[in-house]
Amino acid sequence: MNDEILTKWNKRPLIISGPCSAETEEQMIETATKLAATGKVDVLRAGIWKPRTKPGLFEGIGTKGLPWLVAAKKITGLPITVEVATAKHVEDALQFDLDMLWIGARTTVNPFSVQEVADALRGVDVPVLIKNPINPDLELWTGGIERLQKVGIKEVGMIHRGFSSYGNTEYRNAPMWHLPIEMKRRFVGIPLICDPSHICGNRHMLQSVAQKSIDLGFDGLMLESHIDPDNAWSDANQQIAPERLSELLDALIWRSETTTEQEFITALTTLREQINQLDDELLTILGQRMKISDKIGAYKKNNNITILQTNRWNDILEKAFTKGDTLGLSKEFIVKYFDAIHLESINHQNKVMNS
Ligand code: PEP
Ligand code: MN
Repeated sequence: MNDEILTKWNKRPLIISGPCSAETEEQMIETATKLAATGKVDVLRAGIWKPRTKPGLFEGIGTKGLPWLVAAKKITGLPITVEVATAKHVEDALQFDLDMLWIGARTTVNPFSVQEVADALRGVDVPVLIKNPINPDLELWTGGIERLQKVGIKEVGMIHRGFSSYGNTEYRNAPMWHLPIEMKRRFVGIPLICDPSHICGNRHMLQSVAQKSIDLGFDGLMLESHIDPDNAWSDANQQIAPERLSELLDALIWRSETTTEQEFITALTTLREQINQLDDELLTILGQRMKISDKIGAYKKNNNITILQTNRWNDILEKAFTKGDTLGLSKEFIVKYFDAIHLESINHQNKVMNS
């Protein structure tokens, strides 16, 4: 690997940008030129082979787009990266001397595919980023990193692009921040990049998600950028023009890495972030639980049923004791915690019943 790529790889924050998909040579060159002009982008990205959920959508321009990236690199000096999902993709990308590769979320879920890509990369000296799998399974993500390391890839990085879930949520892919944070803990020293574009699926949340990742100590960003976002052939809703990207990056508050600090301080910070995130989720879930409780209260009211249902409550407690035991939670804690929940739930239903 040449020093130039290694220097970029080690730069913090590492900023990767470019269109979701390469569409035409002109689009690639114009995007790259505008991104390079910002002076804030380190690596140019573009999807050449697009894993689309349904057939009939634009599935990428294919290998003929690779020379466009090479041309964009020649003009701007920006190193180039593409997503690879098969051995053939790797072969083609390497033929065009791609500087960096990434494995997409739909590939990381499949160990056969990751292994195929890894095997094609055996003995190759190129940095490889691996996105989280679309489902929140850290073992799959971990396994992907290990497969790459096993074939001798020295520069392996992670991209957090969120996790898909059923139904509509505010995010296209829920960030579940405690998961990438756990990966950072597992793989100390391996760069962790955030991809706000695929987490958000829209433009208006990009800034806050990017900022959050910086606040959490991520090592860089991958953001999709297009010269004409509204008319992009894929992921139009989430792409931004290079000028807007520049503004977004300027508005971020960069947090300095306290690399000279002792290791335990870093560890403490990481663990505290996980706790904050989980506490936040606990509260959200408790709020949801009380809403359901309200609904039950309304049914009880309409059917003249008592709020307190002793058998039901004992069932809940017994189940919690058993589960708590396997999770290392004491019976004493379970009682206190569930009593508090129960009391709040009763208060909620009381309100409903007497309203
Ligand atoms: C992409 O980066 O354009 C892409 C397909 O992303 P993901 O693998 O995160 O869905
Ligand atoms: Mn995309």
